[in-house]
Amino acid sequence: MDSVELYRQLLGLTAPWKVERVDLDVARQRVEVHVGHPTGQRFACPECGRELGVYDHLAERVWRHLDSCQFLTHLHTRPPRVSCPEHGVHQVALPWAQGGSRFTNLFEALAIEVLLAANVKNAAAILRLSWDEAWHLMERAVKRGRAAKGSTMPRQIGVDEKAIAKRHRYMTLVCDLEEATVEYIGEDRKEKSLTAYFDAFPKESRERIEAISLDMWPAYISACRNKVPGADDKMVFDRFHLMRHVIDAVDEVRKREHKALLEDGDTTLTKSKYLWLTNPENMTDKARERFEELKTAELKTGRAWALKEALRELWSYQSAAWATKFWKRWYFWATHSRLAPMIKVAKLIAGHLRNVLTYFTHRITNAVAEGLNSKIATVQKRACGYRNPNHFKIAVYFHCGGLNLYPSSVAHTKVG
Ligand SMILES: [Zn+2]
Repeated sequence: MDSVELYRQLLGLTAPWKVERVDLDVARQRVEVHVGHPTGQRFACPECGRELGVYDHLAERVWRHLDSCQFLTHLHTRPPRVSCPEHGVHQVALPWAQGGSRFTNLFEALAIEVLLAANVKNAAAILRLSWDEAWHLMERAVKRGRAAKGSTMPRQIGVDEKAIAKRHRYMTLVCDLEEATVEYIGEDRKEKSLTAYFDAFPKESRERIEAISLDMWPAYISACRNKVPGADDKMVFDRFHLMRHVIDAVDEVRKREHKALLEDGDTTLTKSKYLWLTNPENMTDKARERFEELKTAELKTGRAWALKEALRELWSYQSAAWATKFWKRWYFWATHSRLAPMIKVAKLIAGHLRNVLTYFTHRITNAVAEGLNSKIATVQKRACGYRNPNHFKIAVYFHCGGLNLYPSSVAHTKVG
């Protein structure tokens, strides 16, 4: 087999495309494969498929292909153009690459595999690409994958905020709760941060959303109300977010009580913050011993903690009716506790109760989103923090978006 035939097979070229010449540069370790077509060949108009004669050829273009025995391999051709009476002059579709790409489909597929497995810096080194080329390749893969999803929306979504940098920079994350994928990343955590996600879909798609898990955050609530038909029956205030508000209230009680005790020289609560926030099952023996003592002492913090523990029961009921009965008892207890932060959080939840109880219809939580958060943290760590928010978004979609990242002609075929 001569090298021309070998490269025709390696490139998977089919008629009318053929390898015309292979130039090997041993000193520079490069293989240049020149591809062309017979004269008189007819090509389809990319718009309508009509077969037409060649109008002219563009200047030579070059695509990076899979290396041949560690030699950088490039494919060269002058792309033909056709002149369609209806659609005008267009370049014909080339089977080995996507329009606008500087890589062949097979190279792109390999690059995606490597980028999924390594950080960008290492992947770029393995693939002998520059850092910018690697990012560009990821960005194209993400764009392609997101475009392929069309206008289908998830049935159950989770909305969450995420701090991405130390300077309180926030992003809004929308997750598909069934697929455990990141569907959308919006700047900031304002109403428009979430509205922008919904606006990308027609109303019929938004109507099909069945349930939304979120925190009691007014900006998100009004984005859902304005954009999702029937949102009031679909929103579920996530139990983990709710409990976080209650935990914060317990901590507020502790801070105030500790301050008051210290004024009398009482150090009972010194260095106890962690004890009130930790599940006793996860404590060391020594910590648990001290916590048992604190719990039985007559402390305001102890009462606040007991209230918090009791509230967890709410989600164990089978029906909204029973949960409502429990809630009324808990609410009475909390609002008569004479602990201002607990009264405040009880009233906050009471004001949102309707969409706390929708849990018993939809039974969703943001637990999936929490899992994704740790995956995102890994992605973030890999790229040392992402000072560029656009890179952060691309990386999260690339690794957590559940997208088909591959060019269409090699989709579902694994590069071996
Ligand atoms: Zn045409």
